[in-house]
Amino acid sequence: MGLLDGKFAIITGAASPRGLGKATARLFAEHGATIAILDLDAGQAQAAAADLGAGHVGLACNVTDKAACAAAARALVAQWGRIDILVNNAGITQPLKLMDIEPQNYDAVMDVNLRGTLFMSQAVIPTMRAQKSGSIVNLSSVSAQRGGGIFGGPHYSAAKAGVLGLTKAMARELAPDNIRSNAICPGFIATDITGGMLTPDMMVQILAGIPMARAGEASDVAGCALFLASDLSAYCTGTEVDVNGGSLIH
Ligand code: NAD
Repeated sequence: MGLLDGKFAIITGAASPRGLGKATARLFAEHGATIAILDLDAGQAQAAAADLGAGHVGLACNVTDKAACAAAARALVAQWGRIDILVNNAGITQPLKLMDIEPQNYDAVMDVNLRGTLFMSQAVIPTMRAQKSGSIVNLSSVSAQRGGGIFGGPHYSAAKAGVLGLTKAMARELAPDNIRSNAICPGFIATDITGGMLTPDMMVQILAGIPMARAGEASDVAGCALFLASDLSAYCTGTEVDVNGGSLIH
């Protein structure tokens, strides 16, 4: 028996082959969920969905576009009749120092990480409210809690701290409708988000700050997402769960 048997889940930014979203999609599917992978490119989203097996869906959706989020949710409700789980995973980062952040950097990082989390949540909330159930899982970061110092710049820390505030405010407002909202704060996880900009020096420095002395695996984050998406966490809302190998113990 799977922990998500009969559940329908949307995961944004889940086309990246080594990413946290794809690993989460795979684990959710193994636990019986039907998945919609949303990402920028339709072909990549569909290919990622096909990798999970038959019956999963891949859709193009830029989460910074409110109308696109609403359209994706509408299409899925038409097909599924319900939406049980939303994982707001789409995110970008940039390794900039404070004084190098230009307006376009600020906009790009804030828009995908924070605006996208709001817009995609707004797209599914009416359906979850009508069902009187739902679980929203947002990807924040240890950068939000400790003020960066991993890879992303201060604008990334600010966006992910915004995600934490939004997660908690949504938890409070949605609790009466039995919709839970929780955040995951990953530490350093080996994916392609660093886009080849991670130098060997940076890597040594990062590992030195991790008591478990290894980068996290995408599956480490997926396991936490499964817990928060499933009824195992039925009384958890507004929480931030650390998946960081001990790099921030607080
Ligand atoms: P990744 O780069 O492997 O995947 C991110 C995905 O988001 C990509 O498929 C990309 O196409 C998609 N995306 C980008 N902009 C989008 C948009 N506007 N609309 C829809 N999709 C979009 O990244 P990852 O490492 O798997 O990160 C996943 C999430 O976890 C992000 O929110 C990231 O900030 C967060 N996170 C990652 C780490 C880490 O160490 N990898 C640590 C903390 C938090």
